[in-house]
Amino acid sequence: MTLSLSSVAKTYGDGTRALNPTDLEINPGEIISLLGPSGCGKTTLLRLIAGLEVPDNGANIRFGDEDVTRLPVEKRNVGMVFQSYALFPNMSVRDNIGYGLKMQRLPRAEIQSRVDEVIALCRLEPYANRAITALSGGQRQRVALARAFAPRPRLMLLDEPLSALDAALRLELRDELAALLRQFGTTVIFVTHDQDEALAIADRVAVMEGGKIRQIGTPEELYRNP
Ligand code: ADP
Ligand code: ADP
Repeated sequence: MTLSLSSVAKTYGDGTRALNPTDLEINPGEIISLLGPSGCGKTTLLRLIAGLEVPDNGANIRFGDEDVTRLPVEKRNVGMVFQSYALFPNMSVRDNIGYGLKMQRLPRAEIQSRVDEVIALCRLEPYANRAITALSGGQRQRVALARAFAPRPRLMLLDEPLSALDAALRLELRDELAALLRQFGTTVIFVTHDQDEALAIADRVAVMEGGKIRQIGTPEELYRNP
C-alpha cells in the first residue's frame, strides 16, 4: 500500500499554522523518518495521517486507492507508539498486548496466536506474564511495539519512541528497533529530533523546518548533499 499525501496542511483553532501544504509519497514497507527541531510540525503531520487531527480544506490522504482524508482514526487501521507508552501498568505483558484485539472482538484462538507471534518477534517470552511495573524501560518499549503491531496495522506511526529512555539505552535499542521494524515489513513513519537516530533507522529522511519538508532523501543522499 502506497501512502499519498497531497496538499496536507494544518492551521490550529488558535490560528497557529503548524503545517504548510505538504505532498509526500511513501512506498509500501518503507521506513520514513520525520526529522526536525521541536515545533517544526512533525507531530502534527503524524496526527493528520493517523486521523487524530482534521487537515485544512483541500488536503487529500490516500492509503493505496482508498481516500482516508475524512475517515476517523479507528477506521484507518494504523498502529501508533508515542513517547509515553501508555501501557496498563498493573496488567501483564500478555494482557496489554491482547487488549486491543479483545476490543476488536477477534476469536480467542486468533488473539492467542497473534499475541504469541508478536511476543516471539519482540523477544518478550521471558516476561510475558509479568506486570508492566516489573519491566525495564527497554522492555516496556518492546511491549508498546508488540501491542501496536498485534492488530496488523497497514501503517505504523512512531512518535519519538525511544525518547523516554536514557542515552545509553537509546543507542542500544536503536539498531534493535530498526531490525524489528524491518521484520514486521509494515510501512513506518517515525518522528525524531535526533539526526543520528533518523539516519540509522530510516530508508528515507524528511527534514522538516517551520512547518515544511525542506528536503527528503535516503541517508546516503542527505550525507552527500547536507
Ligand atoms: P483544534 O485545531 O483541534 O481546534 P485547539 O487549538 O482547540 O485545536 O487545541 C487542541 C488542544 O491542544 C487543546 O487541548 C489545547 O490545550 C492544546 N494546545 C493548544 N495550543 C497548543 C500548542 N501550542 N502546543 C501544543 N498543544 C496545544
Ligand atoms: P513538533 O512535533 O515538530 O514538535 P508540532 O507538530 O507539535 O511540532 O507543533 C507544530 C506547531 O504547532 C508548534 O508551533 C506548536 O506549538 C503548534 N501546535 C501544536 N499543537 C497545537 C494545538 N493543538 N493548538 C495550537 N497549536 C498547536
